[in-house]
Amino acid sequence: MSLTDIRNRIATAEALAGRAPGSVRLIAVSKVQPLERVVAVLEEGHRVFGENYVQEAQSKWPELRERFGAVDLHMIGPLQTNKAKVAVELFDAIHTLDRASLAEKLARLAQARGACPELFVQINTGAEPQKAGILPEDADAFIASCRGLDLALSGAMCIPPEGEDSVPHFNSLADIARRNGLEGLSMGMSGDFEAAIAAGATHVRVGSAIFGARTYA
Ligand SMILES: *Cc1c(COP(=O)(O)O)cnc(C)c1O
Repeated sequence: MSLTDIRNRIATAEALAGRAPGSVRLIAVSKVQPLERVVAVLEEGHRVFGENYVQEAQSKWPELRERFGAVDLHMIGPLQTNKAKVAVELFDAIHTLDRASLAEKLARLAQARGACPELFVQINTGAEPQKAGILPEDADAFIASCRGLDLALSGAMCIPPEGEDSVPHFNSLADIARRNGLEGLSMGMSGDFEAAIAAGATHVRVGSAIFGARTYA
């Protein structure tokens, strides 16, 4: 697969769903990819990337931004509270707001800086015990409490359970977002981004289909 193929597939999925061209943002997930693959995608003109680890992102993106100009950087991995300060300085969006302590920390940082990245509340739609995220039944209260802290929320995000049909999870996330007045829907990865677009995704997070398989050291 190439970036062009993925862009074409997104455009087709938008059209099939009766959605406006360009209504879905493609986040190219570059975690643990060799630098030359990331550079190749930058050279093709792509400027929206996702990373899972603060430290890895910090070691990579300041230089790449100097070289390629503005890059829209999205944090899509679990965020430790003690890395939140670095994260808000580095990232344009955080997709993994998944607990009250992180909300409180981000609210304090936002007040001190007078700015905050776009925030997506991560929902554990499959209620998987090992997975981060707010349980669906707690979502409304959590979203209200974030708003009580003056945090502006952009959307909701989910990672459906592996090996399950993603569609019910996408629909459940869309329901939560709709009833809470959240416009953004961060859902869909290499294997299911077209289904996510059909279900209303505004942000798809695609890694291996663009860059090739990840090899973890
Ligand atoms: C790694 C990752 C992705 C990308 O996964 P692919 O299957 O390679 O497209 C998307 N979202 C999250 C949260 C990830 O951690």
